[in-house]
Amino acid sequence: MISRKITTNSELQTQAFAQEFASQVKSKETVYLFGDLGAGKTTFTKGFAKGLGISERIISPTFTVIREHQTPQKLTLYHIDLYRLETMHQIKEIGLFDLVKEDNSVCVVEWAEKLGEALTTPRWEIHFTHGENDTRDIEVKKIE
Ligand code: ADP
Ligand code: MG
Repeated sequence: MISRKITTNSELQTQAFAQEFASQVKSKETVYLFGDLGAGKTTFTKGFAKGLGISERIISPTFTVIREHQTPQKLTLYHIDLYRLETMHQIKEIGLFDLVKEDNSVCVVEWAEKLGEALTTPRWEIHFTHGENDTRDIEVKKIE
């Protein structure tokens, strides 16, 4: 298992980290984001999308649940937010378990806590913890 920890001190640092991290992620690997409201999950996704070459604006899919973006290499980024979903039935209904298996795609999933034991592999887990002010501790794990 790959595992590392970093601390960022600004939104821009989190984005820069995510942008660089994106180069390690392969098609059909899922990036699960854990952490409270305001921890930096959407901010991270902005940098991640930029790292994949997406120039479209990334906005939180809190209300739409899924937003889809294409990279110049024809990879699909599914940006998913489970915040408003309450049951495993609803999570299945949005097609999460199909999307994570789709060829030529990467899913980034906010509020991955909602999946409990249902987290899929291969996956990256990114855990965000609020520090003082603009500090965020970010732990990255890869699980095959
Ligand atoms: P989430 O999606 O986890 O609810 P967001 O990314 O939407 O969180 O919001 C994070 C908020 O915290 C943004 O307003 C951002 O500007 C701010 N922020 C401050 N410091 C950081 C940091 N080090 N990393 C990420 N976001 C930060
Ligand atoms: Mg968010």
